[in-house]
Amino acid sequence: MGRIQLDKMTKRFGDTVAVDEISLDIEDEEFLVLVGPSGCGKSTTLRCLAGLETPSDGDIYIGGDHMNFRVPQNRDIAMVFQDYALYPHMTVHENMRFGLEEEEGYTAAERDERVKDVAETLGIADLLDRKPGELSGGQQQRVALGRAIVRDPEVFLMDEPLSNLDAKLRAEMRTELQDLQNQLKVTTVYVTHNQTEAMTMADRIAVMDGGELQQVATPFECYHEPNNMFVAGFIGEPMINLIHGTRSASTFVGDYFSYPLDGAVLDAIGDREDIVLGVRPENVELTETTEDEPHLDEHEFVMDVSVVEPHGDQNVVHLSHPTRSDGEDVLQAITEGMHLVTQGDRVKVTIHPDTIHVFDARSGEAIHNRSHEQTTDFTQHEQ
Ligand code: ATP
Repeated sequence: MGRIQLDKMTKRFGDTVAVDEISLDIEDEEFLVLVGPSGCGKSTTLRCLAGLETPSDGDIYIGGDHMNFRVPQNRDIAMVFQDYALYPHMTVHENMRFGLEEEEGYTAAERDERVKDVAETLGIADLLDRKPGELSGGQQQRVALGRAIVRDPEVFLMDEPLSNLDAKLRAEMRTELQDLQNQLKVTTVYVTHNQTEAMTMADRIAVMDGGELQQVATPFECYHEPNNMFVAGFIGEPMINLIHGTRSASTFVGDYFSYPLDGAVLDAIGDREDIVLGVRPENVELTETTEDEPHLDEHEFVMDVSVVEPHGDQNVVHLSHPTRSDGEDVLQAITEGMHLVTQGDRVKVTIHPDTIHVFDARSGEAIHNRSHEQTTDFTQHEQ
């Protein structure tokens, strides 16, 4: 069984605490993505799991067995790295077969058969006689995957395996890896700093920062119910709008606008004064206006469009406040690609109260997360 448990695992390098007491329970057959900025401790966590580093404190279990001091060969894991690590002088067949060299219980013919089967699965059967130098990046990555898969391990450990590929190929390989995971049902821990990979591939995401786990949850939960400002800011592209301000009676007061808060949000805020309002760009609604001072309800403001980034299907619209002389962004919004907004336009901005997040400005902790009843209704409707 490929269940992985980390119990208060810490890894120090001299004075540097690379991984700080992380506890994590990864289910058998789960695809868990470890994500976070550079230096947050993702690779070190993976290397401890692989047996390439020994934890300074805490314990690692795979399939219920204690692993801390077990050599990599005896952990029933297979690793896939960013740089493929293929042997240039060997053919694809030999490279993949190499993954089986240390496995017992196979005859030579069975090893060859296994390599062929896996090559068929990965669509590289016609490349078996080539050398890595004669392959594209995507094909090399498939061979590296193949070498891991032939071993039929309990656990796959993958460290940024797609980061050397161009954007289109990366997107294709993401889908292929997901299909493979559904087929092979091998517990996978996948390290990336790319939040799109995390969102699209993971059963659950473990978000790390400064060696500590910030949240372990489904992509949906990380996006809509972040534990804190770090997770809210890391997951989501373009980034969530985070507006610092204070609570005054029943109103959030920021530098450029005030926003009324309802009873449940106020109860959650309690006696905190410094708070941060969080709004995802897709929840910043824009309406054109030709008036300098249009009629506004309490959840609306007037802003100026400072920059429009067209992405084809959508536009990222940067908004500045009319009183802000430097024209710096106050908010970012997403509009549909066909909805034409131009730099210099004056727009009415609406933020619906059921879409807001509120964070404690000091601790960063989420005090209130957006409601997502609508999404749940939709899912039920679909079923
Ligand atoms: P990246 O995305 O850049 O690969 P990461 O999240 O994988 O980053 P790690 O490589 O795990 O981060 O590094 C975590 C911290 O531990 C960093 O501060 C790094 O400098 C430090 N570190 C990692 N390996 C060693 C080592 N062998 N000796 C000393 N410090 C190390």
